[in-house]
Amino acid sequence: MFRTDINYRKQCLIKLLHAIEENENEIANALYKDFKKSEFEAYLTETFIVISELKHIIKNINKWAKPKMVLPSILNFPSLDYVYKEPYGKVLIISPWNYPFQLAVSPAIAAIAAGNSVTIKPSELTPNTSALIAKIFSNLFEKSHVEVIQGGIETSQALLAKRWDYIFFTGSVNVGKIVAKAAANNLTPVTLELGGKNPCIIDKNCDLDIAAKRLVWGKFVNAGQTCIAPDYLIVEKSIKENLIQKLINEIEISYSINQQQSADYPRIISKKNWERLVNFTKQQNIVYGGKHDENELFLSPTLIDEPSLESPVMHEEIFGPILPILTYEHKNDIEQIVQKFEKPLALYVFSNDKKFSEELISKFSFGGGCVNDTLIHFANNRLPFGGVGFSGIGAYHGKLSFDIFSHQKAIVKKATWLDIKLRYAPYKNKIETIKKFVNWL
Ligand code: NAD
Repeated sequence: MFRTDINYRKQCLIKLLHAIEENENEIANALYKDFKKSEFEAYLTETFIVISELKHIIKNINKWAKPKMVLPSILNFPSLDYVYKEPYGKVLIISPWNYPFQLAVSPAIAAIAAGNSVTIKPSELTPNTSALIAKIFSNLFEKSHVEVIQGGIETSQALLAKRWDYIFFTGSVNVGKIVAKAAANNLTPVTLELGGKNPCIIDKNCDLDIAAKRLVWGKFVNAGQTCIAPDYLIVEKSIKENLIQKLINEIEISYSINQQQSADYPRIISKKNWERLVNFTKQQNIVYGGKHDENELFLSPTLIDEPSLESPVMHEEIFGPILPILTYEHKNDIEQIVQKFEKPLALYVFSNDKKFSEELISKFSFGGGCVNDTLIHFANNRLPFGGVGFSGIGAYHGKLSFDIFSHQKAIVKKATWLDIKLRYAPYKNKIETIKKFVNWL
């Protein structure tokens, strides 16, 4: 029934919306238990996003699900032409730990809206949030419609070994490749929402106070564990020292001098990631931060001045609260740094010079980004969200989310009151008429 009846799908989403609103505190508590995410960040970056997405889909589902009439081709005259939205069938959603509620539930909502049955495999690294997701969905849905399967890598591999009609994966590039290979066995279409090293370029012609504020927010929200966080800065050399002072100032305004005591500063998700990040800080010129505490998996906001491009911190996506600061003197320097890496998920430019920012936007290939801000392109559901090249395949959010979980079926409804004979054999002498017609078009 969930495959065809739009009203049934809509009622499911309304029930889900109420359940999420009722569980707002439980969601915040689970996220706090998992990695000390503050109540504000839990709401702004998880619950609020899911609730807005649900409301947007509920409001528009009838319109989106309806067959869409398109202009017919003159070659088929007389006809009425449509795009039907057909559910793929069985959808698998595998999600990561960094926004564990939002990144599991948002794609699931769209898959349900499009009429699919859905299996969600949330992250094993956030057991409290994953258990809550399982509880919310199992209270509302038959297993045959929506099922949440908790577990780690083996569970994920076992699920990938099965046949699906669509796989939506959010996570690392390496696991993305595993998912793509598994999907290829059954020619299953995929969306891969991956990561990358996101550059942030800072021109001397910019509002440096605003830049420092927005950079500190975008980099240290969720303790830097955000796929679209600026990974490293490329700053015009003459303003570097000034910017560093402003960044330090903003860090201390946001999280106080003792960030370990701040109620707003989360922890690193696992010992493995904490060790990986602490190792990045070794033998580097740390101009701020670098404080760490293994017992609490704490790592303070850390600024590294001019790391070598060969150092480990510049080898892989950082995904933590460490901000390397590189410099440029000529525009060519920017190109040399950015193009050393695979196409990133995001790119940011701080500049008041429109020509400069336009040039960078068109020169580099990346998922999406902002001029004079960070992260916020994620929040507009009219913008596609996704990567390119190594940072991902496909994009979602808003109507696009509904569309990616729907096969677009082309239907021509041909009238019978007229039947032009031109296409039928025998073809003798007809080619000239066709050519005249093509020239006329
Ligand atoms: P991950 O790739 O390690 O894990 C993601 C999911 O894949 C988890 O559910 C996990 O159980 C499963 N998994 C892990 N190893 C697997 C394997 N070998 N075979 C099959 N399944 C496996 O990613 P993560 O550490 O949870 O998340 C961090 C990564 O996700 C970062 O690279 C980040 O940039 C990316 N990310 C991307 C987006 C986006 O929207 N593009 C959003 C958040 C995170």
